[in-house]
Amino acid sequence: MARLPGDPRRDHATRMVPGAAYSEVAPTPVAAPSLVGWSYRLAEELGVARPDREALEVLAGNRVLPGMRPYAARYGGHQFGTWAGQLGDGRALTLGEAVTPGRGRFEYQLKGAGPTPYSRRADGRAVLRSSLREFLCSEAMHFLGVPTTRALSLVTTGEPVVRDILYDGHPAPEPGAVVCRVAPSFLRFGHFEIASAHREHALLRDLALLLIEDHSPELDRGDPDVFGKLLDEIARRTAVLMAHWMRVGFVHGVMNTDNMSALGLTIDYGPYGWLEPFDPDWTPNTTDAQGRRYRFGHQPAVAQWNLARLCEAMFPLIGDEARLHESLSVYRDAFEEAHTAMLAQKLGLAAFDEGLVDPLFGLLHASRADMTLFFRALCEWRPGEPLLDHVAPSFYAPVDAEVAEVWHAWERMYAACIARDGLPEAGRRAAMKRVNPKYVLRNYLAQMAIEAATDGDTSVLERLYRVLERPYDDQPGEEDLAAKRPAWAEDKPGCSALSCSS
Ligand code: AMP
Ligand code: MG
Repeated sequence: MARLPGDPRRDHATRMVPGAAYSEVAPTPVAAPSLVGWSYRLAEELGVARPDREALEVLAGNRVLPGMRPYAARYGGHQFGTWAGQLGDGRALTLGEAVTPGRGRFEYQLKGAGPTPYSRRADGRAVLRSSLREFLCSEAMHFLGVPTTRALSLVTTGEPVVRDILYDGHPAPEPGAVVCRVAPSFLRFGHFEIASAHREHALLRDLALLLIEDHSPELDRGDPDVFGKLLDEIARRTAVLMAHWMRVGFVHGVMNTDNMSALGLTIDYGPYGWLEPFDPDWTPNTTDAQGRRYRFGHQPAVAQWNLARLCEAMFPLIGDEARLHESLSVYRDAFEEAHTAMLAQKLGLAAFDEGLVDPLFGLLHASRADMTLFFRALCEWRPGEPLLDHVAPSFYAPVDAEVAEVWHAWERMYAACIARDGLPEAGRRAAMKRVNPKYVLRNYLAQMAIEAATDGDTSVLERLYRVLERPYDDQPGEEDLAAKRPAWAEDKPGCSALSCSS
């Protein structure tokens, strides 16, 4: 980022920062850092040792090491369909970038480390509740094989942070926390949007060139269509990401363009959730309960809408509207290809079959089937066995005779598809288990880890990390973490749906 123009000011005051990609700003120290979560797997990959007291100070934002140049990035975004102007890292700070031999360059970012010029009216802090959710879920997504930013540490600050969880006029103090997150880059669609909106075309071009140089080095900078090809690449990455979210039943909850990664990573874990009773219209985000803009089934279309905003932002570099439309069709084609391939794999079939999949989704909805448990049960089903008996334990309500009849008809179709493929049965089912996870971070599980950690007990968090590290394995003794959402969790805040308060 140091290659790009920065903000000449170094203070924390909230301000507009025209023409700059970032503002250098130091983290604000906290009272009493304590390590609550440590991703030993990411640490191994990065060659980083478990922090001692001194390193903990760095992870809490209390110390900046020589060579670090902390900055907050400037970006804008469309929030819930409306241009919101300058947003930027209001509570995240990049400490710097470091090269891990053999793995490349990573950006290390503290989230919740205090105010920045982009904090607007907010405090620059994060609560333990939302930080634990980001820490655990981003790691779980990685182990699921979904492109994502990672998390290295979760540190409580010893300082309270006041939030109104239900947005009902009852603000209350909660424990504060800082997550150290890691990614090859945290560049977002919004970085390009803000430069374009303010007609800062040199900055726009520099951002695009930086993305090419660092993350698409195969693109030829001398090619007159290089920026079009960059858009195609972003479109493809985004398409693959959407196909993965649909594969594992993940709902991001706040797909604003400032929360869209230019690398196609899952970024900014907020009020996300996992489909429990299958419902394409479901969103975990209570703030979006009315319009349901970011509901499960709408995510691929929203990603395309967001890409269209990115295309508009890139217009000054490309100057040809038809070329932008081409990138949007790259997205549609890439999504279709990845999505149908993944659905075929989920069903253990050689090829996607629309006639089989469409009625299945209707049945899952009508049966209130738990998305994760249904597909996992299907991995254990052998043609010839009664399918409905096999999968019914994943339903949240019993099915009536009419729906049962449709299940029987679907079973005959499915069995015919399997027979037509003629794949060896054991191998077919083992391959299904590699794409249909058994363990996902259900919101109620995260909530149990949060409640324990708030009382100083990190054992639930640690157990979840260990189990979510191997989401496709049957793990004897951990069956309770692969259970349907219990009735008590249905309406409890944080356990199914939750607000944006974080
Ligand atoms: P989000 O939708 O949570 O990713 O956040 C939208 C914008 O609000 C981003 O620019 C964030 O940096 C900013 N933001 C959210 N929470 C805070 C906070 N507590 N303090 C400062 N900025 C925040
Ligand atoms: Mg965000």
